[in-house]
Amino acid sequence: MASEPTLPDASTCIVLLLGNPVEHSLSPCIHNTAFAAHDINAVYAASQVAASDLADAVRGMRALRILGANVTIPHKERIVPLLDSVSPRAEALGAVNTVVARSENDARILHGDNTDIEGFLDPLREKSGLHAQPMTILGAGGAARAAAYALGITYAPTPLTVAARRPEQAQALVDALAPHVDNTTTFAACALDDASSAVRSSRLVVNATPVGMAPNAEATPWPNADCFAPGQLIYDLVYTPRPTRLLREAKARGADTQDGLAMLIGQAAAAYRLWTDRSMPVDVVRNEVMAHLAAAS
Ligand code: NAP
Repeated sequence: MASEPTLPDASTCIVLLLGNPVEHSLSPCIHNTAFAAHDINAVYAASQVAASDLADAVRGMRALRILGANVTIPHKERIVPLLDSVSPRAEALGAVNTVVARSENDARILHGDNTDIEGFLDPLREKSGLHAQPMTILGAGGAARAAAYALGITYAPTPLTVAARRPEQAQALVDALAPHVDNTTTFAACALDDASSAVRSSRLVVNATPVGMAPNAEATPWPNADCFAPGQLIYDLVYTPRPTRLLREAKARGADTQDGLAMLIGQAAAAYRLWTDRSMPVDVVRNEVMAHLAAAS
């Protein structure tokens, strides 16, 4: 059970979410639940920031001496040159989702990191037989990039196929990441319509498109569910609804399935550790998020 939150006071630390839009974000629920459970005097607030205001928002973070921030669409890439330093993994991805602020000689130093990688890998850690296996990612946006990097540095897939409705986007992702992952990983890029044999032969298939997300819950990024079979793991980064149509159809054909809630909480837990040096109480947080999602549906 989360303890009652203390009201903010003159010592309260501030953590922000910078994005656009932000009003449906679950991050305030996640982090404020964790702060309350740990009795940490901090508050997490979501701030809608237009792209043209991002540099001012970052300057404001320094001036206001906040503890840190999460960064979401569409600012993950644009914020990189505005920070004082970024971790090697954030640099390889070219994207930051977490900023940690610290004081140094009276100045506020902002360091960027990317915890989507850890969050994505979290639910895979309990699965076996993933090393050097064929894998496919549907979609080639920011989440696909984090997933491809995470898979490439952890499992050396052969091949890792990135399939997108714009094949040139898939090719650009592959070209950008290839130098940064295990050199035994092999890559392929193709159009979604040409991905049947890759999906059929993959040990792991990741949906990194928004297709199937509420309120369009009857959509699926992969209508040809006959490609799925026992021995496969289908991982949908979408977490509303739970399960998605993709996961229902994959499970009906005997495949193992994983939804996106564990990634959402995993990336938040990693960010929380960077800000507080403490392990997030993930069971308390998961219960609160599920209650929040149930109330919203
Ligand atoms: P993004 O950068 O906008 O990329 C979305 C990708 O999906 C692009 O390749 C896009 O292609 C493709 N796409 C969009 N609509 C499509 C459609 N109707 N048919 C086929 N492809 C389509 O978004 P993102 O940040 O990568 O996020 C993707 C999904 O992952 C979202 O649903 C997001 O909620 C989820 N996600 C979950 C977590 C988590 O923690 N569980 C974390 C991050 C993201 P175009 O560029 O051609 O539109």
